[in-house]
Amino acid sequence: MSKKTKKYIFVLNCGSSSLKFAIIDILKKEKIFSGTVEFLHSKKSQITFKDCTNEENKVIFLENLTYKKSIEVIFQKSLEKIKCLQSILGIGHRIVHGGEKLHQSTIIDKKIIEQIRSSIPFAPLHNPFGIIGFQEISSIFPHLKHKQVAVFDTAFHHTIPSESYLYAIPYELYKKYGIRRYGAHGISYQYVSKKFSKIVKKDLKYLNIIVCHLGNGGSIAAIANGKSVDTSMGLTPLEGLMMGTRSGDIDPSIIFYLYENLKMNIGQIREILTKKSGILGITQINNDMRYVEDNYHKDTNANRAMKMYCHRLSKYIASYFTMMNDHLDAIIFTGGIGENSVMVRKMTMEKLKLFNVQCDEEKNANTKFGKCEMISSKNSIPVWVIPTNEEIIIAEETFRLLEIEQT
Ligand code: ADP
Repeated sequence: MSKKTKKYIFVLNCGSSSLKFAIIDILKKEKIFSGTVEFLHSKKSQITFKDCTNEENKVIFLENLTYKKSIEVIFQKSLEKIKCLQSILGIGHRIVHGGEKLHQSTIIDKKIIEQIRSSIPFAPLHNPFGIIGFQEISSIFPHLKHKQVAVFDTAFHHTIPSESYLYAIPYELYKKYGIRRYGAHGISYQYVSKKFSKIVKKDLKYLNIIVCHLGNGGSIAAIANGKSVDTSMGLTPLEGLMMGTRSGDIDPSIIFYLYENLKMNIGQIREILTKKSGILGITQINNDMRYVEDNYHKDTNANRAMKMYCHRLSKYIASYFTMMNDHLDAIIFTGGIGENSVMVRKMTMEKLKLFNVQCDEEKNANTKFGKCEMISSKNSIPVWVIPTNEEIIIAEETFRLLEIEQT
């Protein structure tokens, strides 16, 4: 294929202090170039570029990077790789929260921006920056203004029935203010379930699976007949599993206690539950699962963190068995921890013996760093590790919508 016929989709994921991007060759469905901008608006701003064709990494340091400047630099660098700006067909934005109205990917226009804005209270660290990403692209590259698509992390969960998405609080809080479970990591769940359907050659609509997306943020989804029927994240990504720095499920009275007895203000309580809890809170030193694994036998706090992590995860998995109709096709691990932590998978599976989940220790030990494998023993409920690829889904959705637009 000549260079002229190449077609790329540019994928952007904008957060409060970082921005990730990827360029996808949409015909080959391959990531060719990617990168991360970290420490935006600070003296330590830096951009890491990864050439996916030769795995070469390059880091550049630029003080006080703004969104605008970052996007300019990223495009400049990307053009060295893809040569021609016209080969970028469109931009796919990962938008964390679509609220109740936005439950499928959509081309971005004024009305969509307003709807994304209305969900800012539920995703204050993400949604505002998705909007900024759209605006900066529109002003720097006006020809791409109408070629931008929003892909929502909440969308996959719009099939969750009301008994799963409602909280047992006054119903009018849902009706008036939209306080309900929305979930997250939907783009990852979409990729993993599609991939599993291809692996087992079975139509998604006949598949019942439990998928554990375990990264710095972590969640789990019950997917019955190919559709999400429950998930552990709630109104915001704070609920559910124990995470890197987030508490996951707690008794809400802890908040009253911190407020009334320890005289903390809401900002301090939010900081504790979102940034100082989870693995970091228990180890008191590190939020990284690699640290927990490495120190499991040496350090009481790391040992405790690992046990808590697997205890909570296995409880969720066990509860999701109740939503699998007449059979369960597989439990699937994905995300940085799910794909790599041999110990988390082994300890979690051990707790599920009663449910006929058995780990093949050798296969489990050999499955990491991007390998896609079944890690259960012969007579077990199948357990798989499937590396996620959210960018491919965002690029496919963007391409699909822009193609439709052109026809
Ligand atoms: P994010 O949610 O930021 O996308 P990732 O999916 O990259 O996060 O997952 C990050 C987590 O994956 C960290 O806790 C990290 O320790 C864990 N992780 C990455 N590699 C390994 C590994 N080899 N063994 C155990 N855990 C790992």
